Parts: sequence; structure tokens; C-alpha cells
Amino acid sequence: MSLDDVLARIDSDLPAATDRLLELLRIPSISTDPAYKAECDRAADWLVADLKSLGADVEKRATPGHPMVVGHIGEGAPHLLFYGHYDVQPVDPLELWDRDPFDPAIENTEKGQVIRGRGAADDKGQLMTFVEACRAWIAINGALPCKITFFLEGEEESGSPSLVPFMKENAAELTTDIALICDTGMFGDATPAIVTMLRGLLGEELTITGPSKDLHSGMYGGVSMNPIRVMAKIIAGLHDHTGRVTVPGFYDGVPELSDEIRAQWQGLGFDHGSFLGEVGLSTPAGEQDRTPLEMIWSRPTCEVNGIQGGYTGDGFKTVLPAKASAKISFRLVGQQDPQAIRESFRAYVQSQLPPDCSVDFHPHGASRASQMEIDHPAFEAARHALSDEWPEPAAYVGCGGSIPIAGHFKTILDTDAMLIGFGKDDDQIHSPNEKYDMTSFHKGIRSWARILDALAE
Ligand SMILES: [Zn+2]
Repeated sequence: MSLDDVLARIDSDLPAATDRLLELLRIPSISTDPAYKAECDRAADWLVADLKSLGADVEKRATPGHPMVVGHIGEGAPHLLFYGHYDVQPVDPLELWDRDPFDPAIENTEKGQVIRGRGAADDKGQLMTFVEACRAWIAINGALPCKITFFLEGEEESGSPSLVPFMKENAAELTTDIALICDTGMFGDATPAIVTMLRGLLGEELTITGPSKDLHSGMYGGVSMNPIRVMAKIIAGLHDHTGRVTVPGFYDGVPELSDEIRAQWQGLGFDHGSFLGEVGLSTPAGEQDRTPLEMIWSRPTCEVNGIQGGYTGDGFKTVLPAKASAKISFRLVGQQDPQAIRESFRAYVQSQLPPDCSVDFHPHGASRASQMEIDHPAFEAARHALSDEWPEPAAYVGCGGSIPIAGHFKTILDTDAMLIGFGKDDDQIHSPNEKYDMTSFHKGIRSWARILDALAE
């Protein structure tokens, strides 16, 4: 039987696949709220039953939090792992929803049919694209073309507290040739995307102390050092006039884009004018010799997230404050070492302190960037398979934010992860009226069938 038969089966089974997704969406599996613990359990049970119906050897596995669903099915190489999450975000504010978030429905909109309900896109709809592709494959061929491990989490929306311990305890079982993660989006409506770069994050909080108490600026102003003035100078010095970060050694381990990726990104036609225009801006503010997409996807940053000091209430107070503090974060790429940057940043701050001032540092999180090995042949195979399904060729893209699971597969299991998803920017995940486009669901299922066909040896 051919891939075309599997794709035809997916088309004819779409109404039934949609009904199954609606059933899963009716379960309010809000992981962060203890009141919904039994519902998270019920969603896990639902998935166990559904994967069993495919013939998988599947179990609900207890954790200190919500259970994991782990299943195995099929034989042959390569061994693929599929990750998705069955928990969802809370629905507040409820009054902003046009319907009950857990009474999902198909709606006709100007842009086509959508599946409306909490979790439609993030991540139940995406998760089911892969399950439905497997179902159609089995219906036509009797078995999957290779060994597949399902790994479905129920705590993604509440910080994944059980994930790393579970991966470590079950490392042998979860180690595969490649991990497929379906929790990301497309680049626009027509271009599917494989995320190959995720930025890391480093946080620092610092408090500068000058005088031993708040002073009157009439009595002490001019003769005593103001910690806000010191903080302002330090912060202003973090970037030079070209937008580069000045912390010594900051760019160590920052890779250059390959010519191939640079050309792909140029071909995406990213409209930074409308991207910035939506938030009332017009001019890219990063390194001036970089494109806006590079600024978001492949370049490291330093941002001030908050400043505090002196009198900020109503009216006016001529205070000369004893302290000033700031929260500063760095987005990291490539091989940048968070610890080395933390130390270099602290040394820079120390070097800027005038007499009579001291500084206290408080560290916040530190995570390295993830960069996938796109030399692995599975990446090109998947990219071509996606390109066959969608109007535009698939692109390797970056992601400005952090998706820790991808890094965990690499560091804990030494497995490369492919992040492929069919979400759209206007899916309103985490917000009222979440939706998943019917085309995302339908073509997402077809995409996975093509990817399975391309990856199986
Ligand atoms: Zn998600």
C-alpha cells in the first residue's frame, strides 16, 4: 500500500478524527489548578485507551504530580519518540470566551473552519495530529513503518515539575533515534517550520547601595553618590551605539548562520514593519548589522526587565535614595555559557562602582540555548516531507523563547529533537477563544504521515 492510500484514508476519516479530538477537548485537564486533578487523570486515561485502540503497549505512569502516558508500538528503524502534552491552561477570564471553553465546536470563520475550545491548539489538537497519522497508517498497512514511543505529559502548562526526574528515571525506555515534538507553530499560513534553535535564558538581579540611609537632596545632594545614578550608568553601558552587548566575552560561543540558513530566512520575506507595527514600533533596535529575524532567532540579547529605586509614588519627594535595584535578563544562543556570562556581568558591574557604593547580586535561572544538529538526515527528510504537503517549502526557523523539553532530550537522553507544529499566530493559545484551524489539523495529520514515510528505513 502506498502513502497516497494513507493520505486518502486521513481525508475520509477526518470527521471521525475531529470527533475524537472534540472528545478529548471536553476534558478540562487544567494542570495548574488542584481542583482539576481528577480531570487530568481522566485525560491521561482517555489517551491510554485511544493508544490501546491502535494496538500500543501503553500505560499511565504515576509521578508526584500528574501522570505521564508512555506507550510503545511498532518495530523497525528508526525508533521515533513522539512528545505532546494533554494538560491545558486555565480559562480565566471566562467572560471573554464566546462559548464554554470545554464545550468545543467547529466554527466557520472568515479564514475557514476552526476548532474552538481550550487546548484546541495547545496542545491537544497538535498531539492528536500525530496519533491520527499513526491510526491511518495502521488502518491501511496493518502496522507502523517503524518503532514509535509515545511520551505524553500532563504538567507542561504548570512548569513540568516531574518531567526531568521522570526522564532520568526512565532514560533507557525513552532514548530513541530522534524525538518529535508537536507544540510549535507554522511560519505564516502557508510555510511549515522546523524549529532548530531555541534561545537560552539567564537572569540577574542586582542592588546597589550607596549611603546608609535615604537622604535629603537639599542637605546631601551633590556631595553624596546617588545609587540610581550609578545604576543608570551601568545599564546605559550594557550596549554600545551599534546595539552590541558590551559585557566582556559575551559573544564567545555565538555561531554564525550557515549560508543555507541565511538564504532560507531571507526567502521567508519576514515583514518586520508589520511585526513591529502591531506593537506600536517601527525600527529594529538590536545589533545594527543584523536582520530583524536574526535579532529574534539567532542573536543573544541583554534586556532590562525592571528598575527600582527612590520615590515613585504620587507627588514628589526630594529623596536621595540609599539603594537602587534592577532585574536584567540575557537571551542566549549557540554555545554561550550562562555561568561565564554571569561572572563576566558581575565583574563588569563591580568595575563600574564608584567609591562608597557596593553591590549585591541575586541569581535567577540559567539555561543554555538548544541548537539541533540539522546534519542529521532526519531533518532534511522531514523538511522535504513537509514541503510536499504545504503550499510553501518548509523552513528551519529559530524561536526567540525557550522550550525546555527540547534541551532535556539532548542533555538527558542525548537525543536530537525535531520541533514541528502547525499552530498559527492567531490561535490565541493561553487566551480566551483558543482555536486550531481545521487546515492545521487536517494537513498536520497528513504531514506526519508523510514524515513517517520519509523517516522509515
Ligand atoms: Zn503547549
